[in-house]
Amino acid sequence: MDKKRKKYLFGPVPSRRLGASLGIDLLPYKTCTLDCVYCECGATTNLTLCRNEYVPVNDVLEELDEFLKERPALDYVTFAGSGEPLLHSRIGEIIAWIKLHYPFYAVAVLTNGTLLTQQEVRASLARADLVIPSLDAVTNQLFQKINRPHSGLDCQEIIPGLVQFRREYSGEICLEIFVIPGLNDCMAELEQMGEVIRQVKPDRIQLNTLDRPGAENWVQPAGENELKKCSAIINEGKITEGYHRRRAIPLNMEHQKNILDVLQHRRCTAGDLVGLLGLRPVEINKHLHMLVQLKRVEYIREKRGLFYKIKNNPPHAPDKRNKKADLAR
Ligand code: SF4
Repeated sequence: MDKKRKKYLFGPVPSRRLGASLGIDLLPYKTCTLDCVYCECGATTNLTLCRNEYVPVNDVLEELDEFLKERPALDYVTFAGSGEPLLHSRIGEIIAWIKLHYPFYAVAVLTNGTLLTQQEVRASLARADLVIPSLDAVTNQLFQKINRPHSGLDCQEIIPGLVQFRREYSGEICLEIFVIPGLNDCMAELEQMGEVIRQVKPDRIQLNTLDRPGAENWVQPAGENELKKCSAIINEGKITEGYHRRRAIPLNMEHQKNILDVLQHRRCTAGDLVGLLGLRPVEINKHLHMLVQLKRVEYIREKRGLFYKIKNNPPHAPDKRNKKADLAR
């Protein structure tokens, strides 16, 4: 299926949450209503509330049709990627098209939930099978600290938006909470979070924490005990360890080899690799995460972001050369 390079689709990638997931990225990197401190895609460069047809729907449908007509084995077709998918003004039409032409594929949407205050946004998700909204803070002070929202957003409006969405939407909702030690893991915040969850009534809840470098290096992962403590305070029986994991698919090793080839010659940010290899940021991040875990690659944080390099490659002449190249960019 890689006859033609995909512009809007990525994967299928093995998702820890969704099994074999074909990603659809409807936004230019990186367009979001938030600029979360833990974002694995890096800093938001277009912080906006403006809904728009950021990429042409016809082109997305053409690419989807080309891919899905071969009936690949997938658990989900997932809207995710370089920001907040609900910023695309025609996402509802794309979901409806998938359900009309390929009804046997389940559709999932990852969202930060900030636009669910709008009726037309909630309506656009009606045909999705699974919606995964995130909610990391229920007080404005923490919302500002963790999610660094667009100035037009108010945490106290987002929560009723989620409650209303639950009333109107008949599919499955899995609420995600990203736990940051020292911020949203205190008793008072978690108790309030529990109250909000009882109003939102998601089908499931997932507590997440950092497992790959985020936008800010002071963000630390929560340990297993920490997560258990949070779960007990939230006091909700619906907290799950993971999502369905129906199919195990391997990552595309060709992509991984290409990443290693590039890093043999120069250290790069994830963004550099996106530009050089023409893959989606989410896909590059997955491979980099795996290579770091395998200890093939390591990263250092510099002014321009996280730079990845082959592990134990002592800095020598090529790095100096790249410093000049970086300055020239
Ligand atoms: S984590 Fe999600 S909501 Fe937060 S900045 Fe990144 S893409 Fe946006």
